[in-house]
Amino acid sequence: MTMTTGDRSAATATMAQRVEAIQSLLDERGLGATAIAQELDHQAQDEWLPRNGARVVARAWVDAAFRGRLLADGRSAVAELGLSMPKHHRHLVVLENSATVHNVICCTLCSCTAFTLIGLPPDWYKDLEYRARIVRQSRTVLREMGLDLPPEMEVRVWDTTADTRYMVLPLRPPGTEGWSEERLASIVTRDALIGVARP
Ligand code: FE
Repeated sequence: MTMTTGDRSAATATMAQRVEAIQSLLDERGLGATAIAQELDHQAQDEWLPRNGARVVARAWVDAAFRGRLLADGRSAVAELGLSMPKHHRHLVVLENSATVHNVICCTLCSCTAFTLIGLPPDWYKDLEYRARIVRQSRTVLREMGLDLPPEMEVRVWDTTADTRYMVLPLRPPGTEGWSEERLASIVTRDALIGVARP
């Protein structure tokens, strides 16, 4: 008997069903997959948030010595604020925007970010369209996303790897003199940390 395409697709479990099947098999063998998944979900929802990166930026804006340490060794500097990164994020390279240089990050291969500081990557960051075009048409893509940079501004695109993660240090906006660190942090968004927006 020949099986039709329709029969085959009807027999294929959905992604959710397959995840559940693998999870329950791991649980049965005492590997605690459900507990691990719940913990990761909790971290992703409640701990890995862009406000972590925003705190780092605000501190760098008000404390020049911290900014120096942050640019020299990002991983050690964020630890001063009680922020951690997974072991395999071996390097945090902080990219400082200036009056003449604008930085933007991507992962051309997949979706890597410094997620404990920036939050989990948004859908558009994982999209093939962004990953391919931000490299070749960065100025145009940034304009499409609402960031129209002057032609004389140099744009640098940084491609994340498994062990080197990036975070943009945006320019402190004029008119924020005398603001508290907390207030400064409140204007730094996930998109600004990626480099597709400015505070
Ligand atoms: Fe990736």
